[in-house]
Amino acid sequence: MPPSSYASNSNNRTRPRHSSRPQDEGKLTKSPYYRIVEDRFSNLTEVVLRNSDGDPSRLPPKQKTFRVVDEDGEVNYLEEANEKIEKHWRKVIGRFLAKEVLEKDGWRGRRDNCLLQSLPENYRLYTHKKGDKDIPRTDAYLFGGPHKFRSPEEFCLHARWLALGSPTKTFTNKPDCACVYCDKRYTQKQLNKMWGIVSATPARRGPRKKSDGSTTDWSNICAKDYTKLNTATQPSTVIPPTQQQPSSDTAAGDHEVFNPRPVLCNL
Ligand SMILES: [Zn+2]
Repeated sequence: MPPSSYASNSNNRTRPRHSSRPQDEGKLTKSPYYRIVEDRFSNLTEVVLRNSDGDPSRLPPKQKTFRVVDEDGEVNYLEEANEKIEKHWRKVIGRFLAKEVLEKDGWRGRRDNCLLQSLPENYRLYTHKKGDKDIPRTDAYLFGGPHKFRSPEEFCLHARWLALGSPTKTFTNKPDCACVYCDKRYTQKQLNKMWGIVSATPARRGPRKKSDGSTTDWSNICAKDYTKLNTATQPSTVIPPTQQQPSSDTAAGDHEVFNPRPVLCNL
């Protein structure tokens, strides 16, 4: 059980009974801070965050986005993240919100099919490209918030805080947010374990086995460098799920694979 100071906040809300009609789902959340959009054709659930602490003045200055090759043939600049990387972030965050906010508000659906519809207002995802101009190291960072988030896992708890309406602590008036930057008591690795923050659903390999109800701890599986994500000719530096997966199939293996890419995170 995560150390939640919001439990009563989210659990005590009066929720209407959910209709079985997917097109109605967007109207059913009473929270002013997020809404849910169900797509009956794609079977996706999109979480729309209506609350943001993003500020455009915190976005990188333009001069940091210029690709300049220095005399050593190296680059060091920021580029807006491509759709593939951003979607990975939105999926990790969306699934976490499904578990920690939507379900506690009475929503019943498949977490694995949840994703954030878009990043919160005035947040923007960039990739930092550094090193050899042809194969620079590529790390993703989320800008616009009060902190620079280095991975979707880092942003999960801050997104939860936004989805709960940005509550503040009674005496200090500081954000009552459990993320690694607002509450510095725990490392991200500890938070991943405590809150069950997972990077992605692993691809199912081999024949399906009956689930024993256990879940895989994917929180420790990561690869920081996004460099090889779109480079088919290069050997991948991303740790493939098969090398990390325990020998027995997991509960996650019984779910439809959302996007069977290697697991990525950015610590
Ligand atoms: Zn926070």
